[in-house]
Amino acid sequence: MKKKDVILAACILAIALGGLLFMKTRDHQKGSALNVMVDGELYASYSLDEDRTIRLSLDGGENTFRIENGSVRMLSADCPDQYCVEHAAISADHETIVCLPHRLVLEIRGGEEKDVDA
Ligand SMILES: [Zn+2]
Repeated sequence: MKKKDVILAACILAIALGGLLFMKTRDHQKGSALNVMVDGELYASYSLDEDRTIRLSLDGGENTFRIENGSVRMLSADCPDQYCVEHAAISADHETIVCLPHRLVLEIRGGEEKDVDA
């Protein structure tokens, strides 16, 4: 192997690693909005910039969640499994909290870079 080839290989490796890191940071990109999906349909959308508590009365029951400091967590729900309440707070793009019994999905969306891509 010539010295030139080694340098070339190192460059390719560096670019590959850089790309991987770039993708990783993108995965953890902060979202800018919360989409509330009920039964697979968009029910409501909220900005993550504003702290607020939202109570939803659905056919299946009731869910209360809170938007605070750009993250979202389920405060309470009257579903039997309580998985949504036990779920950790979400804040990154594409993270979700699902309440299966109520067919409710809270999904983080947005982030400025994402909008440029779309
Ligand atoms: Zn639930």
